[in-house]
Amino acid sequence: MRLVVLGGGESGVGTAILGKEKGYDVFVSDFGKIKESYKEVLINKGIEWEDEKHTESLILNADVVMKSPGIPEKAPIVKKLVERGIPVISEIEFAAPFTKAITIGITGSNGKTTTTMLTYHLLQSAGLNVGLAGNIGKSFAEQVAEDKYDSYVLELSSFQLDGIINYKPHIAIITNISPDHLDRYDYKYENYIDSKFRITMNQTEEDYLIYDADDEAISEWLQKNKTRAKLIPFSLTKTFEEGAFIKNNTMEAIINQEEFKMETESIALEGKHNLKNAMAATSVAKLMQIRKATIRESLSNFQGVEHRLEKVLKIQNVQYINDSKATNVNATFFALDSMNTPTVWIVGGVDKGNDYNELMALVREKVKAIICLGVDNRKIIDAFGNVVDIMVEVNTMSDAVRMAQHISEKGDAVLLSPACASFDLFENYEDRGRQFKDAVHNL
Ligand code: ADP
Repeated sequence: MRLVVLGGGESGVGTAILGKEKGYDVFVSDFGKIKESYKEVLINKGIEWEDEKHTESLILNADVVMKSPGIPEKAPIVKKLVERGIPVISEIEFAAPFTKAITIGITGSNGKTTTTMLTYHLLQSAGLNVGLAGNIGKSFAEQVAEDKYDSYVLELSSFQLDGIINYKPHIAIITNISPDHLDRYDYKYENYIDSKFRITMNQTEEDYLIYDADDEAISEWLQKNKTRAKLIPFSLTKTFEEGAFIKNNTMEAIINQEEFKMETESIALEGKHNLKNAMAATSVAKLMQIRKATIRESLSNFQGVEHRLEKVLKIQNVQYINDSKATNVNATFFALDSMNTPTVWIVGGVDKGNDYNELMALVREKVKAIICLGVDNRKIIDAFGNVVDIMVEVNTMSDAVRMAQHISEKGDAVLLSPACASFDLFENYEDRGRQFKDAVHNL
């Protein structure tokens, strides 16, 4: 069997290693440059590869093709493969049949990484032999090749899900759905929603789907379509006989008729969105029969993930918060919602078709000044120019942070939550967040 791997990054190289070990004739092709460290791995394992080109004669003779998530379906080489009827699948689809481990698959527009890390933390604290993969860290395929774990927590983007045929997680989570990445879905929101729900399409009666019951897109899909999985809803406003919810400042999760309760103020993560993430992760922990004391302890000591509402420093009683990972309006909505002091808000970057009206009420209530940090700030200025007293434009992160210090007063917060992608001024959101933190430390 000839396995062709398109893309020589983390998931491509991992798939190549697993394929080689399982006896496939493997070839890796990347239209861009493959990193030196990955080239070394491929050479050491005796795997053939090419970069900066796609040689059709070496690709179109594949029996199966693993496409890395970053390569769009519309790429000419992918179209040619599909026209010839050659299966084009994702890393998860290729690797899953080679492991007996239980997988917990987590998708959604926001909260994937936080929920994945929190779930992993809960299971690991309980002493389970659990791995972490998907969009995070070492590839799932390579870990399957090493055969180390009994279960995996997988962060699954819609691009990973687009390439599944038979894969099913034993437990699936859909954290929420709001418009994102629509350029990859013919600008049709329905297509993006359907893509997220692929996570449940192969699930059976023995499997579980945990989902946000407050989310409009999710509720509508579930009304119109069917899944065979057992449903476990979570909500901030409703209560359930089976599911997770908030009642009298207490989080309750009733799973298989067993109840877990914890006061919300003992949960370390802050913000309503993180209560949702905590309800989802707790539901998994209950399904995996983790002891209540372990769940309680893990939820009270999990400090969150870098660049997600990360508290950086307090200077002259002003709290600086790095939420650089907020690359869409929905994420910023929850960041502003969680602020309980007057806020100087640093916002802007590459607009992905944002509707800023969704933030209007929160901005009126919480924001005292806006610092625009993007190449094109026009939409932000149009939306909020008349709403806040102070609106300034700056060109660099250090100027943004110095300006924020200048404007803020004791008791305020300075929040970087851009609601936009970072590619105009930064390499990626991590670079943006690090520059923010460096600038704060330099004050
Ligand atoms: P993802 O991996 O889906 O991008 P992250 O956990 O990295 O999600 O969080 C991305 C952004 O969304 C951060 O700004 C974070 O504070 C915010 N966020 C986290 N969980 C949620 C949620 N459940 N709903 C909305 N926003 C969220």
